[in-house]
Amino acid sequence: MPFHYFGKINFVPYTKVTKFADYLKDGKLMGTRCKKCGEFYFPPRADCIKCFSDEFEWVETTGKGRLHTYTIIYAAPTGFDDIAPYIIGVLDLDDGGRLLGWVDVPEEQIEIEMRLKAVPKIFEEIPDIKLYYSLEKIK
Ligand SMILES: [Zn+2]
Repeated sequence: MPFHYFGKINFVPYTKVTKFADYLKDGKLMGTRCKKCGEFYFPPRADCIKCFSDEFEWVETTGKGRLHTYTIIYAAPTGFDDIAPYIIGVLDLDDGGRLLGWVDVPEEQIEIEMRLKAVPKIFEEIPDIKLYYSLEKIK
Protein backbone atom coordinates (compact mmCIF):
# COMPACT_ATOMS: atom_id res chain seq x y z
CA MET A 1 0.00 0.00 0.00
CA PRO A 2 1.89 3.04 -1.28
CA PHE A 3 0.37 5.55 1.15
CA HIS A 4 2.65 4.30 3.93
CA TYR A 5 5.22 6.67 2.43
CA PHE A 6 3.36 9.54 4.06
CA GLY A 7 4.22 8.39 7.56
CA LYS A 8 3.32 6.03 10.34
CA ILE A 9 0.10 7.79 11.33
CA ASN A 10 -2.06 7.64 8.27
CA PHE A 11 -5.78 7.47 7.73
CA VAL A 12 -5.80 7.82 3.95
CA PRO A 13 -7.81 4.92 2.57
CA TYR A 14 -6.78 2.80 -0.35
CA THR A 15 -8.45 4.50 -3.31
CA LYS A 16 -8.40 4.88 -7.06
CA VAL A 17 -5.71 7.54 -6.75
CA THR A 18 -3.00 5.53 -5.00
CA LYS A 19 -0.81 5.80 -8.10
CA PHE A 20 -0.21 9.35 -6.85
CA ALA A 21 2.31 8.05 -4.31
CA ASP A 22 4.11 5.97 -6.95
CA TYR A 23 4.48 9.06 -9.15
CA LEU A 24 5.79 11.03 -6.16
CA LYS A 25 8.48 8.44 -5.57
CA ASP A 26 9.67 9.19 -9.10
CA GLY A 27 9.68 12.90 -8.30
CA LYS A 28 6.49 13.61 -10.25
CA LEU A 29 3.77 15.73 -8.74
CA MET A 30 0.52 14.56 -10.30
CA GLY A 31 -3.01 15.85 -10.23
CA THR A 32 -6.05 14.51 -12.03
CA ARG A 33 -8.15 16.00 -14.81
CA CYS A 34 -11.75 15.03 -15.39
CA LYS A 35 -12.04 13.56 -18.89
CA LYS A 36 -15.62 14.76 -19.22
CA CYS A 37 -15.49 18.41 -18.16
CA GLY A 38 -11.76 19.10 -17.92
CA GLU A 39 -11.68 20.18 -14.27
CA PHE A 40 -8.22 19.81 -12.71
CA TYR A 41 -7.69 18.52 -9.17
CA PHE A 42 -4.79 18.68 -6.80
CA PRO A 43 -4.71 16.72 -4.53
CA PRO A 44 -5.97 14.25 -7.12
CA ARG A 45 -9.61 13.15 -7.15
CA ALA A 46 -11.00 10.14 -8.95
CA ASP A 47 -14.56 11.47 -8.93
CA CYS A 48 -15.33 14.91 -10.32
CA ILE A 49 -17.27 17.15 -7.94
CA LYS A 50 -18.51 19.32 -10.84
CA CYS A 51 -19.96 16.75 -13.23
CA PHE A 52 -19.78 13.53 -11.14
CA SER A 53 -17.84 11.64 -13.80
CA ASP A 54 -15.41 9.00 -12.57
CA GLU A 55 -13.26 9.08 -15.69
CA PHE A 56 -10.02 10.90 -15.09
CA GLU A 57 -6.49 11.13 -16.40
CA TRP A 58 -3.22 11.85 -14.60
CA VAL A 59 -1.63 15.22 -15.32
CA GLU A 60 1.77 16.31 -14.06
CA THR A 61 1.86 19.74 -12.41
CA THR A 62 4.87 22.01 -12.35
CA GLY A 63 4.59 22.30 -8.56
CA LYS A 64 5.02 26.05 -8.99
CA GLY A 65 2.80 28.50 -7.24
CA ARG A 66 2.40 31.33 -4.76
CA LEU A 67 2.69 31.12 -1.01
CA HIS A 68 -0.82 31.51 0.37
CA THR A 69 0.14 31.45 4.06
CA TYR A 70 2.65 29.94 6.45
CA THR A 71 3.25 29.29 10.11
CA ILE A 72 6.24 28.61 12.29
CA ILE A 73 5.81 25.58 14.53
CA TYR A 74 7.55 25.96 17.88
CA ALA A 75 5.43 23.52 19.91
CA ALA A 76 5.62 20.53 17.60
CA PRO A 77 3.50 17.38 17.87
CA THR A 78 5.09 14.18 19.11
CA GLY A 79 7.53 12.83 16.57
CA PHE A 80 8.37 16.28 15.23
CA ASP A 81 9.60 17.90 18.46
CA ASP A 82 13.25 17.21 17.68
CA ILE A 83 13.13 19.29 14.48
CA ALA A 84 11.17 22.30 15.84
CA PRO A 85 11.05 25.13 15.11
CA TYR A 86 10.09 24.51 11.51
CA ILE A 87 8.00 26.33 8.93
CA ILE A 88 4.90 24.93 7.21
CA GLY A 89 3.34 26.70 4.24
CA VAL A 90 0.32 26.45 1.96
CA LEU A 91 1.07 26.85 -1.74
CA ASP A 92 -1.57 27.89 -4.30
CA LEU A 93 -0.47 25.94 -7.36
CA ASP A 94 -0.44 27.70 -10.75
CA ASP A 95 -2.21 24.69 -12.26
CA GLY A 96 -4.94 24.75 -9.61
CA GLY A 97 -5.23 23.21 -6.20
CA ARG A 98 -3.34 23.68 -2.98
CA LEU A 99 -0.54 21.90 -1.22
CA LEU A 100 0.88 21.88 2.30
CA GLY A 101 4.64 21.59 2.62
CA TRP A 102 7.78 22.40 4.54
CA VAL A 103 9.05 25.86 3.65
CA ASP A 104 12.73 25.60 2.79
CA VAL A 105 13.36 29.36 2.81
CA PRO A 106 14.96 31.32 5.67
CA GLU A 107 12.26 32.95 7.82
CA GLU A 108 13.46 36.50 7.16
CA GLN A 109 13.11 35.97 3.40
CA ILE A 110 9.56 34.60 3.46
CA GLU A 111 6.81 36.78 1.99
CA ILE A 112 3.16 36.00 1.36
CA GLU A 113 2.55 35.61 -2.42
CA MET A 114 6.21 34.79 -3.07
CA ARG A 115 6.89 32.33 -5.88
CA LEU A 116 7.80 28.85 -4.68
CA LYS A 117 8.02 25.38 -6.13
CA ALA A 118 6.92 22.18 -4.40
CA VAL A 119 9.57 19.50 -4.66
CA PRO A 120 8.65 15.97 -3.56
CA LYS A 121 11.41 14.47 -1.41
CA ILE A 122 12.04 11.22 0.35
CA PHE A 123 13.83 10.94 3.68
CA GLU A 124 15.92 7.80 3.49
CA GLU A 125 17.40 8.22 6.96
CA ILE A 126 14.17 8.80 8.92
CA PRO A 127 12.00 5.69 9.09
CA ASP A 128 8.72 7.32 10.16
CA ILE A 129 8.31 10.12 7.66
CA LYS A 130 9.49 9.00 4.27
CA LEU A 131 7.94 11.47 1.90
CA TYR A 132 7.30 15.17 2.09
CA TYR A 133 7.06 18.34 0.01
CA SER A 134 9.77 20.93 0.23
CA LEU A 135 8.66 24.43 -0.79
CA GLU A 136 11.68 26.04 -2.40
CA LYS A 137 12.50 29.30 -4.13
CA ILE A 138 12.19 29.21 -7.90
CA LYS A 139 15.61 29.77 -9.37
ZN1 LIG B 1 -15.96 16.68 -14.49
